[in-house]
Amino acid sequence: MIRIFLLLLFTTTMFASQVERFRWKDGETYLVFLEKNRLPVVPLYYNLDKDDQRLTEEIRAGVHGQILKSTEGEILQMLLPLNDQLQIHIYKENDTYRFEAIPIICTTKIEAFATKIVSSPNYTIMKKTGSRKLAQIFVANFRNSLNFKNDIRTGDNLVMIYEQKYRLNQVFSMPILHAAMIEMRHKKHYIYLNDDKRYYDERGHEVEGFLLARPVRGARISSYFTKRRWHPILHKWKAHLGIDYVARRGTPIYAAGSGTIVWAARMGTYGNLVKIRHTDGYETRYAHMKSIRRGIYRGKHVKKGQIIGYVGTTGRSTGPHLHFELRKHSRALNPLRVVQVTTKKLKGKQYKAFIKLKKDYDATIALHLQNQTKFKRMSKFEGICYIHLM
Ligand SMILES: [Zn+2]
Repeated sequence: MIRIFLLLLFTTTMFASQVERFRWKDGETYLVFLEKNRLPVVPLYYNLDKDDQRLTEEIRAGVHGQILKSTEGEILQMLLPLNDQLQIHIYKENDTYRFEAIPIICTTKIEAFATKIVSSPNYTIMKKTGSRKLAQIFVANFRNSLNFKNDIRTGDNLVMIYEQKYRLNQVFSMPILHAAMIEMRHKKHYIYLNDDKRYYDERGHEVEGFLLARPVRGARISSYFTKRRWHPILHKWKAHLGIDYVARRGTPIYAAGSGTIVWAARMGTYGNLVKIRHTDGYETRYAHMKSIRRGIYRGKHVKKGQIIGYVGTTGRSTGPHLHFELRKHSRALNPLRVVQVTTKKLKGKQYKAFIKLKKDYDATIALHLQNQTKFKRMSKFEGICYIHLM
């Protein structure tokens, strides 16, 4: 009861500005943060189970958290997002501090804008919206199908339709591109997010990802990527920030992309772990290996498809499998969204469904183009983010 009261207090006092907003600094660690704020490390870290301890390693520099303090300056509650779905909640109850992971609930809006190209698409979007993230998702999703270097003309049109999350009236998390159009020498090029969560061009051809191949051939996926999942037995919120591939012990593991080995050794619950750094801030991780291949060590460059180790069950693992992670600037991404063996061409029923979706998007894009829809953020106080009570 006390807890619920506190949670309500938290939400209702939000606008009376008794809540401090703070930014997680570069290089800050959870333990140092606790000590700095005179929060007890035993209940808030050492007594947590391994999974919760690992969650505290997921806090990224630059995220904004909230602290509710009493008038005496004592911390009553703290919220700290781990990703766009899960957050750490620290609260005081009966003179002791407690830790839990709880869902984030946000307002999600579909936004769109049209603009005339003034320079590169990257520069144009930055200039019109002030959002580096919007420029990033546009360029990243077109990069394998179009070459912006040659055919960009100023005065050509660009339209973006995307999903944006808001938490506590602030833009929150990476936007998700739904559809986009860019004119190059007056020819229109499109990209669409299909129901299968992959991007296709106007012909229904999948837009190729940059990393290739499953890291283990012919392996079955036993656990998918999820930023939050309710554990029915442990009765708590967890995250699985990778894909589990089940395979026989000793099955070779391939580098999903070319890059530099930045870790090749044991690492806690990961067991034998290899990390590869790729271009553009991407990193892949391969955990629970039986053994790391000889000659794979820190600093070594590997090529896409090269064997780096063998499936095992080292670390915290219940049976032989590869736990595979993809990160960008240390943030976990769903590998299945990015890593693909070959590009897919939609056929039959799937193609028909895609064409229907495409038609709707085309009509919307045409409308934005005609109206020259201006970029606009959600106005203040429209969306109130609240804490979900379990
Ligand atoms: Zn796993």
